[in-house]
Amino acid sequence: MAVYLSKALRQRLENVDDHRCAYCRTPQANSGNPMVVDHLRPRSKSGATIFENLCFACYRCNLFKGSQTHAIDPLSGETCPLFSPRRDIWNEHFIWDEAHLRIRGLTAVGRATTNALRMNNAVIVDARRNWVRLGWQPDANT
Ligand SMILES: [Zn+2]
Repeated sequence: MAVYLSKALRQRLENVDDHRCAYCRTPQANSGNPMVVDHLRPRSKSGATIFENLCFACYRCNLFKGSQTHAIDPLSGETCPLFSPRRDIWNEHFIWDEAHLRIRGLTAVGRATTNALRMNNAVIVDARRNWVRLGWQPDANT
């Protein structure tokens, strides 16, 4: 469902998310699709359309996240909150593997989110392989 954002709110999100998926960090220019607006707490669970509850996400992360707010940490089997781009710091929960192809969860939140959003699905890993061949590297601060 389309989400109406004021110009100012859209600009604020673009400034913070830097035209990348707030979850898997895929640059919009690499995804081939515009980022979509993700409600951290979904509208179906009364999530508001305010900056603190929004981020830009790639189509696939948004699709696989769906209305989830929690997921299972595959290491502990415990349910934990998904990564929240407005509350959490990406590189405290995730790290790139040495080849910059796969994202590894460093924490329960990171592992649960990586799995739930399928952030290392075969399609995106293939795409990352091509970007790396062309010299792409994740930003140092991601
Ligand atoms: Zn993504």
